[in-house]
Amino acid sequence: MTLKLKDTFSGIREFTPFSKSEVKMYTCGPTVYDYVTIGNLRAFITADILKKSIKYLGYKTLHVMNITDVGHLLGDLEDTEDKLEKSSRIQNKTVWEVSQFYSDYFFDAIKKVNIDVPDVVSKATDTVKEQIEMIQLLERKGYVYKTDTGVYFDVSKVKNYSELAKRDLNAQVSAVRDKVVLDKTKKSQWDFRLWQTAYPNHQMQWDSPWGKGFPGWHIECSSIIHKFIGNCIDIHTGGIDLIFPHHTNEIVQSKSAFGDPFVNFWVHNNFINVDGTKISKSLNNGYKIEDLENRGFNPISLRYLYMIAHYSSVINFTFDSLNSAQEALDKIYMYLKLNKGFYNKNASVDPVYKEKFVSAIENNIDTPSMLEVLWAVFKDENLNVPVKIATLLDFDKVFSFNFINYISEDKLPLDILKLVQDRKVARQNKDWVLSDELRDQISSKGFLVIDTDSDTIIIRS
Ligand SMILES: [Zn+2]
Repeated sequence: MTLKLKDTFSGIREFTPFSKSEVKMYTCGPTVYDYVTIGNLRAFITADILKKSIKYLGYKTLHVMNITDVGHLLGDLEDTEDKLEKSSRIQNKTVWEVSQFYSDYFFDAIKKVNIDVPDVVSKATDTVKEQIEMIQLLERKGYVYKTDTGVYFDVSKVKNYSELAKRDLNAQVSAVRDKVVLDKTKKSQWDFRLWQTAYPNHQMQWDSPWGKGFPGWHIECSSIIHKFIGNCIDIHTGGIDLIFPHHTNEIVQSKSAFGDPFVNFWVHNNFINVDGTKISKSLNNGYKIEDLENRGFNPISLRYLYMIAHYSSVINFTFDSLNSAQEALDKIYMYLKLNKGFYNKNASVDPVYKEKFVSAIENNIDTPSMLEVLWAVFKDENLNVPVKIATLLDFDKVFSFNFINYISEDKLPLDILKLVQDRKVARQNKDWVLSDELRDQISSKGFLVIDTDSDTIIIRS
């Protein structure tokens, strides 16, 4: 068997990387004008599981991601506002401060759900030179035109634009028109901005052959891919909301500049709903990782919850479902904790289960089936305990549920031991308020408290 992966545009195909030595992946990164939510995190968890699955199958990977810290306009003209500029105005900080703050926040959040930081992370503002060069190349090839407000990509120069968009563009018009202000100087409404000029109040401005201004959103991903990987990549990931226009525009501009092929596989994850509805500012249901932690959840349980469904289907997030995910994980954690004496580094992985696990991965990263194999191992009472532990740890190379933490020796720092002791006394005195306070203090220092019937277990989280 080999890996079969679903490409958004052509369906399930056998995965063969362009280069045998390394799988080259790109992920559209966060726009750093607000806190990353559990909704946004699904895309990054999906990319992380995909990458770790590919590594598990024996490939090396090169993973690149951008940080959108400039140019995310809601429409074409100056009467629409750049999301970063808007946050900067509301918070009375510079755009650079805003983007640094939310970027730092993003990396803290992904660490909590065990997402590996990609090998290369590039801010859009660090590649403005390359973006200008790419626009110049497109200009030399006759794909762009200039208006009073900017430089645009002329989609009429690309034969299959609407086919790429895979939707009826006309039907989209009214929906989009309500939300964004279109530049009347454009030849066609689907022409997209590569460089914005005539926007004097924008804090971020660079000199360019077309005048002072700043790049559009789509061009940064194409430029960053070209700079750090080259003309073609094996896998490009992102949420399905990015398919059109962002990824369609990446495709046309990259192929027009650098030729075929550009991306071998497009992998798009679906949305999450919260309590059955879409995440929205007005409902205030775009939870952050701290919102889960403050309710006593281990952030890793979100990772587990997202794996229960395939990345291509919608997930409904509720605190009840998160609780079930956490309870499921706690069962395994507890087992590992209680059986850590049986841990043997040299024990072998069970070959039958490993084969099933590999098959599930190869079936388009079938995470529900991967979890089924995990539970089959867990429940198999005939499996020798060291082999069971070795197999769980082996699968965790993909899952990243922190299994290893539960079998390693605990050497708790003295201040934590003191808090644990105080909490034990508080619990004996049935002082639950103090006990909860002490639990919070312990977890704020990076340790997880699990109470069992007979004992309290403290684990580095
Ligand atoms: Zn992108």
